[in-house]
Amino acid sequence: MTEIWRKQIEELCLAFRIKTKLVSRPTLNTACLSNRTIEIAPILSSISYCSALHEIGHVAMNSFDELEAWQWAKREAWNWTPRMEKCMIDSIESHA
Ligand SMILES: [Zn+2]
Repeated sequence: MTEIWRKQIEELCLAFRIKTKLVSRPTLNTACLSNRTIEIAPILSSISYCSALHEIGHVAMNSFDELEAWQWAKREAWNWTPRMEKCMIDSIESHA
């Protein structure tokens, strides 16, 4: 599964002309809209996958809105698991 996820993240970054930098873990993920750059952890789990999609969502929609970026991630995701749903809800609540 992680191979499919990793490939999709690469393809989306190409399609939206987004540069990536690596960070050590998904909690450090960020998006910089002006540089079209995301900092993401290696795609090793459903958590790093959905978090990376979320950061791509920020840049793809040019939006700082947390909810919008998560909705984008969920819409574009290859699959969406209960663990990803929980990651999304926890993240939204931590920003509220
Ligand atoms: Zn965000």
